[in-house]
Amino acid sequence: MELFRGASILVTGGAGFIGSHLVDRLVGLGAKVRVLDNLSTGKKENLRDSWHQIDLVEGDIREIEACRAAVSGVTHVFHEAALGSVPRSMEHPDVTLDVNVRGTANVFTACRDAGVKRVVYASSSSVYGDSEKLPKKEGEEGRPLSPYALSKVMNEQLADVFGRCYGVEFIGLRYFNVYGPRQDPEGPYAAVVPRFCKAAAAGEPLLIYGDGDQSRDFTYVSDAVEANILAMTAGLTATGRVYNIAPGNRTTVKDLANVVLRAFGSSAGIRHESPRPGDIRHSQADSSAAREFLGFRASRDLASGIEALVPRSDREPLDMPPPVSSSPP
Ligand code: NAD
Repeated sequence: MELFRGASILVTGGAGFIGSHLVDRLVGLGAKVRVLDNLSTGKKENLRDSWHQIDLVEGDIREIEACRAAVSGVTHVFHEAALGSVPRSMEHPDVTLDVNVRGTANVFTACRDAGVKRVVYASSSSVYGDSEKLPKKEGEEGRPLSPYALSKVMNEQLADVFGRCYGVEFIGLRYFNVYGPRQDPEGPYAAVVPRFCKAAAAGEPLLIYGDGDQSRDFTYVSDAVEANILAMTAGLTATGRVYNIAPGNRTTVKDLANVVLRAFGSSAGIRHESPRPGDIRHSQADSSAAREFLGFRASRDLASGIEALVPRSDREPLDMPPPVSSSPP
């Protein structure tokens, strides 16, 4: 982990769920971390643990000048900023594509111009689209089923072209349903795990869209963070590729609901509504490429991951960090 000690690292989307856990890990490794985030879905509270060690630049990746200012003096970039959520993209394809595609093109262009050595960026299992093959394997993608999935396909294509044309090293990580502390349970676009946990904690029934037999490969956030660290330190042969990042298990949404109800001691049960358009039916990763090229292996199983989300009186409450400068460094 010598690479990170004293290194200038940029995390786009660093105030978000995955990005903020990554920031904490990088600070722990001795890196000088800058965060570029417009706080649209991210929050300053997420950066509470690293607040005094980082440099938060409030800016939008759709603005090339904000990207240029953020990458100045930086050697390694983790690109997490994006508008997530398939349902959001079904409603607002223009905004999702603008942020995720044009924004990513801006980040990559700024990286090229600043001489950044390596970019590790967030892709998604949604790129497998309508392919029914299981487990999902890199190179066996189907057609994207939503504008969000399309945006991630286009991110991978951008990285491929920028890598070949400009010599920047790129590694893409296809996350599969990442969950853990700080994931936002609020609003219509909340992911299933925080939604379930919030309902269970309130003693309300858990809402499943569809029959609940759809399945996912749930990945604890610390495993996703570890994949990023491994990708940034991996040898040159690992670059120019994308990797599935997940434990490689399949859990139905119905089974997840029961794990959550049990962990929270709730007997409120489950209710169903019609399935949401754009959602894929089954998802399970073949993560053998990540194991071979990055040395990645997920370490947390679903039951213990959900257990870690049950509020306990001996856990610290979340409070607001003190205000900091939000001007570019
Ligand atoms: P998140 O919404 O918590 O984090 C995204 C961050 O990007 C937020 O802090 C947000 O404020 C920031 N952002 C959004 N638009 C921006 C813009 N225009 N300019 C600057 N910053 C902007 O989501 P997350 O779950 O932490 O996701 C991180 C990355 O992982 C995203 O690229 C997402 O598509 C990808 N991903 C996540 C999952 C998952 O299960 N959470 C699965 C697959 C892929």
